[in-house]
Amino acid sequence: MFQINDNYLKLPGSYLFSTIGKKVNAFQAANPDKDIIRLGIGDVTQPLAPAIIEALHRAVDEMGNADTFRGYAPDLGYEFLRNAIAEQDYQKRGCGIAPDEIFVSDGAKSDSGNIQEIFSDGCRIAVCDPVYPVYVDSNAMAGRTGTYDADKEMWSRVIYMPCTAENDFVPEFPKETPDLIYLCLPNNPTGTTLPKEKLQEWVDYANRIGAVIIYDAAYEAYISENNVAHSIYECSGAETCAIEIRSFSKNAGFTGLRLGFTVVPKALKCGEVSLNALWARRHGTKFNGAPYIVQRAGEAVYSEAGRAQLKEQIAYYMRNAKVIKDGLKDAGYTVFGGVNAPYIWLKTPEGMSSWDFFDHLLENANVVGTPGSGFGPSGEGYFRLTAFGNYENTVRALERIKAL
Ligand SMILES: *Cc1c(COP(=O)(O)O)cnc(C)c1O
Repeated sequence: MFQINDNYLKLPGSYLFSTIGKKVNAFQAANPDKDIIRLGIGDVTQPLAPAIIEALHRAVDEMGNADTFRGYAPDLGYEFLRNAIAEQDYQKRGCGIAPDEIFVSDGAKSDSGNIQEIFSDGCRIAVCDPVYPVYVDSNAMAGRTGTYDADKEMWSRVIYMPCTAENDFVPEFPKETPDLIYLCLPNNPTGTTLPKEKLQEWVDYANRIGAVIIYDAAYEAYISENNVAHSIYECSGAETCAIEIRSFSKNAGFTGLRLGFTVVPKALKCGEVSLNALWARRHGTKFNGAPYIVQRAGEAVYSEAGRAQLKEQIAYYMRNAKVIKDGLKDAGYTVFGGVNAPYIWLKTPEGMSSWDFFDHLLENANVVGTPGSGFGPSGEGYFRLTAFGNYENTVRALERIKAL
């Protein structure tokens, strides 16, 4: 008789976006004339840049010709893409990452969910609170997180590192010793990040205690301040303690196309065992790559035209971020983020919970955002607005919020 993986039964339901959807639908049904503006989405909205579209067309044509047709992609990804990544994302920034330390994949969600498979069941994980929920959920599915306390919305074996206005959203070294430390910088949902010296302290700490940092840099392209590292490998000693995960989704609009990569340095070892070899073994077995056509589109992200076009796209979203941030400030809110990330994190007014504020905004401004409590217990009392909408709607939404 088969048995299921009953770790799945311990997972709390994913209520956040389904509850939001239900509330918005009910409100729209009751108020059919209201024009609802959505500033809650964590997905891009601008079309793919011309350089990417051209690369896709070329690759499609190659697939239709016997001389240039491609079958299975190499396990780690095509060299043309890994070389471009190694050179432009790393070597140009002074990081000694080689192409054979880069693993091309179908996105950062897969990689950040799957990377835990190469670690022992007994490893204790530490996460920033609030944060992108995939890290905790994937470890829960693997049975690494203990039991779930529905009242506290916390797992017994997860080490939570609260990031709130009180500590400027900078996590502190936990009292208990973790084995795996997930850092998402710039952070989703708070939009905040660490100065490079602070990140260096985390690298030193991980090397000291023998932990691995799993560094999710999905928003690297949004960094605008000079004292913020674009890669954890800008910190010395990171190659012996850090895995970095990147995505083409938020910088180049690949959320539907699917492309990302993970860096596992060869110097990252557990005794004699190289984690690079383990991850290569996994890629070889559970193929987790991206199609040739999509990898060619990824290569175009690094072309001169691609870089220029994507810079404009990011500037477009960051102009929205400024509209949101300035508008909220004018309206008297306390706001964070929006400088190195497309997320604005605001403190809900005195006496209003995250969900109270959600209802308030929906009913009185017809604007949809995301309650902070959905990203972890320390997100209660906060609220996330995103810069991924179109400019005109973003301006109108803020006018309504200011008029409340
Ligand atoms: C959006 C997002 C991802 C997902 O990236 P994909 O490459 O689309 O899978 C990963 N990490 C964070 C923090 C994100 O916000």
